[in-house]
Amino acid sequence: MADSKTIERGFCRLCGRALLPPEGFGGLKDGSGVCAACLRKLRPMYPLAISWDKKGNEVRQDPIRELDTVQAAESLKNAAAFIEELRAKYDHHNAVFAVESVTVEKGGFMKPSTYYAVGRVIYGCFEPEDRITLLHGGGKAETALTCVRKRASYGAGSPMDQGLGGQPCALEFTGKGLACEPGDLIVRD
Ligand SMILES: [Zn+2]
Repeated sequence: MADSKTIERGFCRLCGRALLPPEGFGGLKDGSGVCAACLRKLRPMYPLAISWDKKGNEVRQDPIRELDTVQAAESLKNAAAFIEELRAKYDHHNAVFAVESVTVEKGGFMKPSTYYAVGRVIYGCFEPEDRITLLHGGGKAETALTCVRKRASYGAGSPMDQGLGGQPCALEFTGKGLACEPGDLIVRD
């Protein structure tokens, strides 16, 4: 008999893979599970939205949870073509992040400023130490990511492994006099 602590969370409704507890998985409208790999493919088409209620509790709006199995399977078939269209729209960068707000911790004489760009990954993946390019007002500046953080009500929250397409998050980087404002894009090539 299977050990219910290590397996038996059912199987992915879309690809048939077993759903294992350590990986993140979500449900569709009818409650059936979807594995992390399928979620990752669907997420850029159905971005996750995070907001906060008056008490400061996180409110997640996940459009994938509104899909039925037929809609999700259909979307999964179109996921690769969807990303190709996005890549064409954004000059074929490997990953693109849309900046919604920026917080800057001013540096000192020998210390560069720290920037927290809060927004959403449109597609692709951002990880700590990635070389990134800030696109601002027709100009560009290069730097490296120091951290990818969760999005919190006050801006940037705790660190996470990576920011994936369709996910809200915050990108942390340092530099002197970098220009980064809401509406800008941060890209990885
Ligand atoms: Zn799956």
